[in-house]
Amino acid sequence: MQGLQMVDLKRQYLNIKSEVDEAILNVLSSTAFINGPEVKNFSTELAAYLGVKHVIPCANGTDALQIALMALGLQPGDEVITPSFTYIATVEVVALLRLKPVFVDVDADTFTMNLDSVRNAITDKTKAIIPVHLYGQCVDMEPLLALGKEKNIPIIEDNAQAIGGTYTFADGSKKKTGAIGTIGCTSFFPSKNLGCYGDGGAMFTNDDALAEKLAMIANHGQKVRYYHDMVGCNSRLDSIQAALLRIKLRKLDAYCDARRSAADYYDNAFKNNPNIITPFRAPYNLHVFHQYTLQVKNVNRDKVQELLAEKGIPSMIYYPVSSHKQKMLAEFGGASYDLPVTDFLNTCVISLPIHTELTEAELQYISENVNQIIDQLSK
Ligand SMILES: *Cc1c(COP(=O)(O)O)cnc(C)c1O
Repeated sequence: MQGLQMVDLKRQYLNIKSEVDEAILNVLSSTAFINGPEVKNFSTELAAYLGVKHVIPCANGTDALQIALMALGLQPGDEVITPSFTYIATVEVVALLRLKPVFVDVDADTFTMNLDSVRNAITDKTKAIIPVHLYGQCVDMEPLLALGKEKNIPIIEDNAQAIGGTYTFADGSKKKTGAIGTIGCTSFFPSKNLGCYGDGGAMFTNDDALAEKLAMIANHGQKVRYYHDMVGCNSRLDSIQAALLRIKLRKLDAYCDARRSAADYYDNAFKNNPNIITPFRAPYNLHVFHQYTLQVKNVNRDKVQELLAEKGIPSMIYYPVSSHKQKMLAEFGGASYDLPVTDFLNTCVISLPIHTELTEAELQYISENVNQIIDQLSK
């Protein structure tokens, strides 16, 4: 089978081409490339979708996390609790701001931060907690919110992989992921569930004062033009991306459904394979499958990837080395951490192609080959 990809942006584009081309051409003829009406309209529409008061767009997901930390007014040396098992951006911005990342372990089933580890990691210096909704699975937010409230620690959701997801509270009420903590952050990187055709990101909050501060920091610390009240940065979403994102936002729920259907197909295909653990679906969470990530047992994972590649099936390891073991963060004492689940997951996770345009024939081809290769290698 030809042309299988982890994410097939080309096929998705061809399905929405006329709408997208028209929207982009409109921006070209308006020449309102920065801060035009498209950006404002997108922010308003995204706020309505998420059920959150303020959406502040910015240049990318990494900036969103950085600006969120800046808006909380943290001081050098303040501690920020994050999982080590995440994309590096979550932790990098903490170090960049001269704050101290404090790493916690994850649960092997959900791949998300373990609440007991978070509780144990809290000190007098803890000034923020960053839960990461990894692969599209929301962290169990209700007990985390309670802990944050008890200790008076703000919670910044890294929602880059879970936009469109829904969290259900014990009383049955629901919130969209990213709209639950003090500030939510997301990325519109092309391969994300709500991806643009370049870079983009956004922050969400229900707090009016924080919203104003986030917007100011993203815009050189100014509210009134040329009057700069605080040190900020230059982080903007451009109008072409916003125009495209407005179109894709209207399709986001359908896109998440398509990803879930593909995941259902895989789950069913792998359920009887003793050497494959399929992704856990937490009861509080409507999973949006940014990634479809298996844990494989009794096989050489490199060999699995090699044999899959021979069949034209791409696969990826997210992530082979966790943050606390990265050279970049060595000064934060990575070697002294004991994060057994994180270390274990580094060795056994493997992500398969998942996107909005996978056909049943492709899903069948991929899953049959995965089963066959794992069976063969585990003998
Ligand atoms: C993609 C991603 C980011 C960073 O987003 P960019 O837009 O690439 O800067 C941050 N955190 C997580 C978990 C991500 O997956």
